[in-house]
Formats: sequence, structure tokens, C-alpha cells
Amino acid sequence: MLLPNPAPTQLLSHPLLVEKGIEMAIKRLDLVHPEISGNKFFKLKYNLEKAKNEGKNKILTFGGAFSNHIYATAEAAKVQNLEAIGVIRGERTTPLNATLSHSERLGMQLHFMDRNSYRNKTEPTFLAILKEKFGDFYLIPEGGTNELAIRGTKEILDIADQQFSYICSSIGTGGTFSGLYASLTSHQHLLGFSSLKGEFIHQEIADLIQKYQLESRGTYEVFTAYHFGGYAKHKQELIDFLWWFYERFGIMLDPIYTGKMAFGIWDLIKKDYFKKGSKILMIHSGGLQGNAGFTEMTGIPLPT
Ligand SMILES: *Cc1c(COP(=O)(O)O)cnc(C)c1O
Repeated sequence: MLLPNPAPTQLLSHPLLVEKGIEMAIKRLDLVHPEISGNKFFKLKYNLEKAKNEGKNKILTFGGAFSNHIYATAEAAKVQNLEAIGVIRGERTTPLNATLSHSERLGMQLHFMDRNSYRNKTEPTFLAILKEKFGDFYLIPEGGTNELAIRGTKEILDIADQQFSYICSSIGTGGTFSGLYASLTSHQHLLGFSSLKGEFIHQEIADLIQKYQLESRGTYEVFTAYHFGGYAKHKQELIDFLWWFYERFGIMLDPIYTGKMAFGIWDLIKKDYFKKGSKILMIHSGGLQGNAGFTEMTGIPLPT
């Protein structure tokens, strides 16, 4: 069983927070494990346990070339002595980027797939073909969200976090958000910041809550205005914010998820979304492994 290091919660201080009468802290899930960072640790934990209990020695999952999920799965599989196969969208590049070369070094078998075939990733007939090719495996879906992932992300918040009136999280598939939602105490509001463009995410979250019959004592709201052009897209304003945040608080964020969330929270503070006396907890869901690849791709330096 994977055991997390404690994730420290750090109070952030800034004159704007004083002016608005708000307290803000950040929960450092990026520190729960040296390699299996952030929310991915919690999403993988029970899945790997189940794979082992079922006597499977191999896990297979899907992801893009810069995927935090692929990186974390490669690491978690190694720690748990499981074989890992990563089905990667797109063609193999030479050299491999930082995410994939690291995953391969850890022993993950990378299998590259064209974008059209990759779209079949949830089709039973397609998965059956993969089983013929690779032998029996425990399947973890792209992004890692399933029932056991949500069971894991319900463990992110602890008793000490009950003092906060707002819990803030970035959203990709919504698995992390759903687990957080189910673990709120009364009087807590969960705010989600979608990294993807579009309103579809509202339905996606509603579907997850329904499908896994999640109940909550708190409430939630999802913001779709902070995607900066869409998944893995960025604007200079976001990059400037990452640097500002790092210089001000000494904490690195990533441009795909946590940076967009933190930008959104800061924007809402400026716009007086939060009443005086609010206590905000920002979840640092990790993802920093992707920064090297981002810089490789765009030439834009990020805090390291
Ligand atoms: C994967 C990831 C997310 C998104 O998590 P979901 O459960 O898919 O919504 C958020 N932040 C970071 C850093 C991630 O790596």
C-alpha cells in the first residue's frame, strides 16, 4: 500500500489578503511523495492495491506525451513492483521528452498510438486487442479517474482542513474534485477551476457525482473562465502570474492546472467574490514534472 508523506499546509501572506480580510493557505500535495506527486498519488493508491489483490502483475493506462498521470503511474508501478504499460497518444519522438524518458527509465513500456486509434481507448473490443498484445492487465483509464480513484481523493482533506470555508481545486477529468466534494464538512464550499475550455465540465461533474453516488455536506461551484485558451494552452499573463507567485510565496505552480487555479482564486479575491472572514484552502495538486516538458516545447522558462 502506498503511504503518503504528510502534506503541509502553509499560510500565505500578502497585503491584498489583509485588505480583504481573508485568510489563504495552500495544501502541498506536491510533497506527498518524492515522485508520485499530488492528486495522482491518491488516485492511484487503491487502484494499485486492487491490481495486486486481483493477482495482476501488469497495469496499463493511457495518456498524452506530457501527462502527469503517465509519469505518476510509471513511478507508482515501480514502487509496487508492477509492470506498467503506457499507451501514449501520438508518435514517438527522438529524443523522448522529459516525462516519457523518465517513465521509460522507470521501466514503463511505452506504446505509441496514432490519434485516431487512441480515441477508442474505452472500447471493450479495442481493449481486448490490447490484452491479446500485452497479456492480461489491470486497466486504469486515461487521467486515472474511476471509482477507486475517487475513493482515494476523498482522503485528501483531513480534520485540520475543516477550519477552511473554501476549498479550491483545479479540474481535469473531475475525479479529484468529486472526491473532495464527497469529503466536505457542512459550511464548506468547494470551488473548481477547469483547465479545459468549455461548459461541458458542469455536466461531467454532475455525471461523476451521480454515477458514483457521491453525497456531500457542502456545496460546490465550477469556474470555466480560467482555461487560458484550453487544455495545455497558455497566455503570457499566466506565465507572468506563475513567476509572480513563485517570487512572492516561494512555491512553484504548473501552467496546466495549479497555475490556472491560483490565477482564478487571485482574480476572485480581487473581484470581492469572497466575503470578509473567508478562509481559503488552495489544493496544490502537484504536476511540476510537466514544467520541464513545457519549457522544452515552448522555450518559456518556468521557476525550477
Ligand atoms: C491530473 C491533474 C489534475 C486534474 O485531476 P482530475 O482528477 O483529472 O480532475 C489537477 N492537477 C494536477 C497537477 C494534475 O496532475
